[in-house]
Amino acid sequence: MRQQGRYYFYPVQHCNMCGDTSDHHPILGHRLNRSQGFRPRTKTGITTTIQKCSRCGLIYANPQPVPFDLQDHYGVPPEDYWKPEYFQYDAHYFSQELATLRQLMTIQPGMKAMDIGAGLGKCMLSLAGAGFDAYGFEGSESFHQRALERMKIDPSKLKQGTMENVSYEPETFDFITFGAVLEHLYDPAQSIAKAVTWLKPGGVMHIEVPSSRYLISRLINTYYKLIATNYVTNLSPMHEPYHLFEFGLRSFEEHAQKTGYTIVLREYYVCSMAPFPRFLHPLLSYIMKKTGTGMQLAVWLKKNDMNTHRGS
Ligand SMILES: [Zn+2]
Repeated sequence: MRQQGRYYFYPVQHCNMCGDTSDHHPILGHRLNRSQGFRPRTKTGITTTIQKCSRCGLIYANPQPVPFDLQDHYGVPPEDYWKPEYFQYDAHYFSQELATLRQLMTIQPGMKAMDIGAGLGKCMLSLAGAGFDAYGFEGSESFHQRALERMKIDPSKLKQGTMENVSYEPETFDFITFGAVLEHLYDPAQSIAKAVTWLKPGGVMHIEVPSSRYLISRLINTYYKLIATNYVTNLSPMHEPYHLFEFGLRSFEEHAQKTGYTIVLREYYVCSMAPFPRFLHPLLSYIMKKTGTGMQLAVWLKKNDMNTHRGS
């Protein structure tokens, strides 16, 4: 059992993505530092308040709990992860995203791609398979080491480091992917802005994040209201999987204006329908597809050309 973490609690004054002041943002409810289940009233724990930006739809914790030591969140013992199937690479990995990418750009020999949060390097292998010169970086020392040893990733292509401490030359990459990373970072707006500097003008970036419009979360929150509690299911700032933000499409539209990129495509993926029984899944899936209320939001953006963007 993991030791309970120790936290600083930072008051949030502005929406991280659009900059709107948070004092008038609605409070959705409170979030425990553990799974809340059907009877959250019977659970002990610490809660933080969850707010939603009324301008862009970003959902965030306020105050924002930040652990004294990030290892409390991500220092997972390797034996929790190292199951044989993790090391099996399937050539179809990332193939759906590559199919979408081909609609947006023609992949040519010598083009460079970057996977942010490369894990074991499987996405790098798929990017290389698609014709890219593939690079990446990974924050976890143990994942980085296994990527080199077990997946035979070229050590000159995969750095060990975090969004905060790695650097690359400006305008290096034709394509950058940011999958399942941004919701874990304390400053997603700054992280995207930094990655955009690494992108060539006209280059494409793929971002996938949890959507703040997710239907299942809204249904669970309605249930919590009906049983007369003020809990909400959004985010997990103090327990696994440590999601700190859920994003609206408008979060990126607002951020794009300040950062010099243009959203060229967006998609919502249905993904999980837990905890609803299986017979309801076709109906829920239909509604989520129809209304754009799936679990994940994928945003594809292009870096503006200097000629068309004045960096305002
Ligand atoms: Zn906002």
